[in-house]
Amino acid sequence: MIYDRSNIFARILRGEIPCKKVYEDPYALAFHDINPQAPTHILVIPKGPFTSFADFSSQATIEEIAGFVRAAGLVARQAGVEDSGYRLLANHGPDSHQEVPHFHIHIVGGKPLGKLLA
Ligand code: AMP
Repeated sequence: MIYDRSNIFARILRGEIPCKKVYEDPYALAFHDINPQAPTHILVIPKGPFTSFADFSSQATIEEIAGFVRAAGLVARQAGVEDSGYRLLANHGPDSHQEVPHFHIHIVGGKPLGKLLA
């Protein structure tokens, strides 16, 4: 899918609009969700131009994928939710209501989250 360079996370990556940054390295940027659904709600995004999980998983290099996954784990540890638990979530496409067309994962935790799938 063609990457839309004007999407809000692309603008955050370019420093055009602010975010509440919690972590950054060459592979990933993490920041607090503007509309948190739990006490901990952090978004982790790769630095490359990937629209969704489909593009990221098929087009990113193995190094980019590994760096991103490593960063997400570090962010969860840094957020203090590793022992209590947390949920990783990535929406892809219309059925999942993906709003921002730059691949991201949500790290959600800090309270009991309930069962997602029966
Ligand atoms: P998704 O539905 O998976 O695309 O989720 C997009 C998420 O981005 C939502 O949880 C929004 O609250 C969040 N969001 C949108 N704009 C911003 C922003 N400027 N800073 C931080 N989070 C944002």
